[in-house]
Amino acid sequence: MTNCLICNEQVAIQITWKSLLPGSGMNTCATCYETLMKINNPTCPICFRPQINLGICSDCHSWENDPTWKGILERNVSVYEYNGAMKDILSTFKFRGDAALAAVFEKDFKTSYKSNFKTIKFDATIPIPLSPERLYERGFNQAKLLADFLPLPQLNLLERTHHEKQSKKSRQERLSSTNVFTFTEASMIRGKNILLVDDIYTTGSTLRHAAKHLIDNGAHSVSSFTLIRS
Ligand SMILES: [Zn+2]
Ligand SMILES: [Zn+2]
Repeated sequence: MTNCLICNEQVAIQITWKSLLPGSGMNTCATCYETLMKINNPTCPICFRPQINLGICSDCHSWENDPTWKGILERNVSVYEYNGAMKDILSTFKFRGDAALAAVFEKDFKTSYKSNFKTIKFDATIPIPLSPERLYERGFNQAKLLADFLPLPQLNLLERTHHEKQSKKSRQERLSSTNVFTFTEASMIRGKNILLVDDIYTTGSTLRHAAKHLIDNGAHSVSSFTLIRS
């Protein structure tokens, strides 16, 4: 017997060889697992927004029509849709400081990585950092926990220069604000294909600012992989 990581109910787990392997995903009850809505096609080819057609969504159109942002973020992939259940899980994950919850997502995160990024070979992941204040409050960076699941070298060299909430700014402010991120060792990313990792893609602004900073400092390409597409 073990306890569901989300609701804490006891789960009877049938022991199979597969369930004994790390990352087998047997860490939630069936009810909780079913509340996680995996994104199925069709999606926007750039940001992975669930939609009814296969074309580029209107948001991505605006980004791609702006010469500053065109092609900066090659592509985002997300694993789950944002729904009420996910909102509850995330607030537990982030604000109760429950780092163990990351294990709930491990199996789906790894499977999605393998199936969605077949055509590109990344040199490294870079987790989106928290501001030092936020990291101190929370005790862990959830983006780093997610990046730890991936079979790629991880570079923790981005730093946040400030942590204003991107979602509270207008689109124009988001587009124009600069230097949200800074670097410790820019030489490490020159010519590299980088995969940014974060928990959620909301407006795409944070990820694009990070991507732009990497491209401006010589990265060859930047894509992103996020747990949730809101
Ligand atoms: Zn449960
Ligand atoms: Zn899009």
